[in-house]
Amino acid sequence: MTLTGLIGHYVRQNWRPYLLSALMLASVSALTVFIPRQVGHVVDALVAGTLSEDALLAQLGWLVLAGIAIYFLRVAWRLQLFAASYRLGAQLRQRLYARLCQQGPHFFQLKRTGDLMALATNDIDSVEMASGEAMLAGFDGTLTLIMVVAMMSLGVDGRLAAAALLPFPLMALAFWRISNHIHQASHDSLDAFGKLNDHVQETLTGVRTLRALGLEERSAARFSELAEAAASASLRAQRWEAAFEPAVGITLVSATALTLGLGGYLVWHGELTIGALTAFSMYLGQLIWPMFAAGWVLALLERGRAAWGRLQPTLDAPLSVDDHGDLPAVVPGTLAFDGVTFSYPGHSANALSGLSLTLPAGQTLGLVGATGAGKSTVLRLILRQYTAQSGSTTWGGNALHDYRLDALNRAISWVPQEPFLFSASIADNIALAKANATRGEIERAAQLASIHDDIVRMPQGYDTPVGEKGIALSGGQRQRVAIARAMLTDAPLLLLDDALSAVDTQTETDILHHLRSARVGRTALIVSHRLSAVMDADHILVLKGGQVSEQGDHASLLELNGWYAAQWRYQQLEASLDAA
Ligand code: ADP
Repeated sequence: MTLTGLIGHYVRQNWRPYLLSALMLASVSALTVFIPRQVGHVVDALVAGTLSEDALLAQLGWLVLAGIAIYFLRVAWRLQLFAASYRLGAQLRQRLYARLCQQGPHFFQLKRTGDLMALATNDIDSVEMASGEAMLAGFDGTLTLIMVVAMMSLGVDGRLAAAALLPFPLMALAFWRISNHIHQASHDSLDAFGKLNDHVQETLTGVRTLRALGLEERSAARFSELAEAAASASLRAQRWEAAFEPAVGITLVSATALTLGLGGYLVWHGELTIGALTAFSMYLGQLIWPMFAAGWVLALLERGRAAWGRLQPTLDAPLSVDDHGDLPAVVPGTLAFDGVTFSYPGHSANALSGLSLTLPAGQTLGLVGATGAGKSTVLRLILRQYTAQSGSTTWGGNALHDYRLDALNRAISWVPQEPFLFSASIADNIALAKANATRGEIERAAQLASIHDDIVRMPQGYDTPVGEKGIALSGGQRQRVAIARAMLTDAPLLLLDDALSAVDTQTETDILHHLRSARVGRTALIVSHRLSAVMDADHILVLKGGQVSEQGDHASLLELNGWYAAQWRYQQLEASLDAA
């Protein structure tokens, strides 16, 4: 859909405010045109000496009334129109937000957060301006132009009007050239702002790392560079917008010269009265607004088109996680991968190669292996953040893709290694998974996650704010808050993705013990680099290069004397050295 299509569709849907403002605007234009005509009559009557004092006062009274009416109508129609355009902006923001919320990790891997934020602010503002200000100026300008030209040619003199309009085609040509440049410059300026936004967002997110590495200066220099680029791109757009003004000026001067030449000639020959020439000059003055309006409209439309060109691909981007399944609830049963091969979009190397696994309901599966072996990828496929290229992934006998995404999400509690905490209280962060959880339930979940004692020691206990992304908590505390969050829901499947990496071994053992007793008969898949976290699992898979290299329970894997056994001995030694 083009920008004109978008605005046209919106205007058709919201025709009332647009029609009302058009009617009010037409009244304003009619009154504006009425004024010079009356002034012309008054001047003629004064020259002829036929105007009485009372009649003069009455004429002045009409003019004042017309002025007041114009003022109120202008305010009212602007309010109507701007309210409508702000609503379009709000609708677009809601659409963008909803779309972004539906997108999966692959989409965000390709997009930059700061640029997405710029789309939601700067770009939508530009589309909003095109649907409000540009409509205003376009309609007002066109109407004024038609009425003024009609009054010039029909009300005063057709020959003069034709002469005055002679320079206009040249102006139209200049406008067309200028607006092409504005389109490109606006696109560059919006892009540059997006890049600047992205840099600020990234810098603020990683400000502690930047400081630790002493990179503030380099980051500031990059910021200056981007700010400079954004400013000069905006300046380029402004320079082209400013080019409208001389074009209008030259056109107007030429039109005035032509009018005065021909008008003087006609007055000289008694074919035109001085009053008519005065009125004509005033009409010519009234053409300034339609000309400026045309320039302004073109600038706003080109900026809006450039913004829409950036916005539309994101609004219409296909969902990176499709949701075409129609099963409304997960059938509890065995979770199985059969010959699953998967590579990340845009990467040729397989992250998983022909992987098969079975996790019967109620059992716990441990997933271990070196970094990059494909453990998290398995979880991402279960969560359907990505789709395998071949092989089957099923749960309870149904393909994972046959479930509705919300059904799948409800059935799974997922705790990532780096959980996300919102800037709210600890209690609110735990209760995220269950909005109506009581304080008792929250505390019980916190006890299961071995974080209760830490929380009660905090100044405001469960009401302690955790700061943005949980900055006020340690890594281990954040992980345990996330575990508590997962414990609050009664989801049939728990996925722990190295979710205890930042807590000490004893706390990890306590938490896993609590989990086992609280989730009897529930299914769990535990990914961990620390083998003590999976030693009690019913079955353990060792992954290597996206394939299963060893499997069995803890005892049989030790007997096998492969990677698992070596890693186990190493970690035991490490733990005994730590304890010493
Ligand atoms: P593990 O969890 O075992 O450390 P992962 O499942 O995260 O390993 O990664 C498996 C392989 O996939 C690795 O080679 C990794 O580089 C690659 N990989 C992981 N995430 C992505 C991604 N988002 N895009 C591209 N490749 C990825």
